[in-house]
Amino acid sequence: MHNINWHPSSEMLLNHAMGNTNEAESLIISSHIAYCSVCKAEVAKYENIGGFYLKNHEELNVSKSLWNNLLGKLDGVEQDSKETNFVDYKIKSRLNENGVRVPSFLYHYLPNASDTKNWNSTINNVKYFNINFKENSYKGKLLEIPPGKVMPKHSHEGLEATMVFHGGYSDEVGSYNKGDLVILDDNDEHSPVSSEQTGCICLVVYSGSLKFKGILGSILNLSKF
Ligand SMILES: [Zn+2]
Repeated sequence: MHNINWHPSSEMLLNHAMGNTNEAESLIISSHIAYCSVCKAEVAKYENIGGFYLKNHEELNVSKSLWNNLLGKLDGVEQDSKETNFVDYKIKSRLNENGVRVPSFLYHYLPNASDTKNWNSTINNVKYFNINFKENSYKGKLLEIPPGKVMPKHSHEGLEATMVFHGGYSDEVGSYNKGDLVILDDNDEHSPVSSEQTGCICLVVYSGSLKFKGILGSILNLSKF
């Protein structure tokens, strides 16, 4: 089994366990947990602690509608069976003739885009598929980057989180492979290069817009990306 080296912070995992993350954060943290048994165990620990406090709280003042709201939310939700392999939704990709398996809940975001040849193309041959979230301040993109592709140097107005599903990439700070979740804030500037051997398929969620820098930044039309 390969090692996962880049994880979300404990604060993010705690927020996720307590249901305090937004849709974009939830999607990317859940994606990481599908590969990472260490973070999965940490979230389970927080959930147990939360359950303990709920059970031992002497007096809980809850609204009368809480129970009905809860039932409403549970309606139609099916419990995952223990045998479920969470990484079992296959994407067809030019990077791997056998296809690339991604977390099954991604199906809901790309039911008609399971073949990357139907994704959008940038001028530098990167394929991408846009994901829209309910919170307009967050955006998501699935990217299929050919081997050895240098991305223009860029920084970010807000947060950017990248989750690797296939292959990997590297930048000035390190290299990132399947299962790694890399989180950058608006102070980080980097120029990623996809793996020479495998290319990279990853999910990126970000707030704010990308600010491309350097020579490529001036010729890249951001509206095309
Ligand atoms: Zn982890």
